[in-house]
Amino acid sequence: MSWDDIGGMADAKGRLLEAIEWPLKHAATMARLGITPSMGILLHGPPGCGKTSIIRAAASCCDCALITATGASIYSMYVGQAEETVRNLFKKARLNAPCILFLDEIDAIVSKRGLAGEGGQGDSVQERVLATLLNEMDGIESSPHVIVVGATNRVDMLDDALLRPGRFGEIVHIPYPDEQTREEILLGATKGVPIAEDISMREWAACTEGFSGADLDNLCREAALCAMRENINSLHVRNDHFKKAFQSLSRKVESRVGEGIGNEDARHIRL
Ligand code: ADP
Repeated sequence: MSWDDIGGMADAKGRLLEAIEWPLKHAATMARLGITPSMGILLHGPPGCGKTSIIRAAASCCDCALITATGASIYSMYVGQAEETVRNLFKKARLNAPCILFLDEIDAIVSKRGLAGEGGQGDSVQERVLATLLNEMDGIESSPHVIVVGATNRVDMLDDALLRPGRFGEIVHIPYPDEQTREEILLGATKGVPIAEDISMREWAACTEGFSGADLDNLCREAALCAMRENINSLHVRNDHFKKAFQSLSRKVESRVGEGIGNEDARHIRL
């Protein structure tokens, strides 16, 4: 996956380029100009909007290793096990430097103290994991080629200690795609797909406000499936296939937005 595979998001791409590529590829210039690289970057925004994709693109463009773990996979009720997992992840990242350590759904392990625990035991696991993570992040200063990237759709849930400068010093918002970005995602998702000439991705971008990148991918896939359901030997995807796919998907997107799902980016969609 390269930067070109990521539709739109010019601002986020630019900031990640500076935060990830510069320290890895232009360390000497940064040192000459007295710029201290960010140790950690936090991506926040709703699910399916490209947080993982943009990090994969950054890793491949910088030719660096990418180690991914989710908050849920780190969490463990067994005493000491979650902290051990965190320490091992950092060790592996240092061994594979240059490396991006991507901690997805980071709120699952390091929410504000006392907020997300499952009772006494849960709280103490959270506190110990948070202390271990802070400790390991502070230790990264001695491994300049390891960058920690956290991702969450609940930045308000994260413990303030994580957001202090020197830890997740760079905070990048990855919101629902705007119209221009939606058009680029739709064009990317249908690259190589035989679509009829009557389809305007600009028009589809205009009426898919509230759709995430994943929803837009799904729209294109569903439209192609509609074409196949109609004719198993179908040669191309028409606009009416897109309309059918849109009708079923927009209901799902509407109900998700209606529920709010506790994410800060929930917003109304015009259909
Ligand atoms: P997140 O990590 O925010 O949950 P992902 O990066 O996993 O989101 O995105 C889910 C899918 O949506 C990806 O596989 C990708 O195909 C598509 N997608 C999301 N945003 C974009 C984008 N800006 N450009 C291209 N594809 C995107």
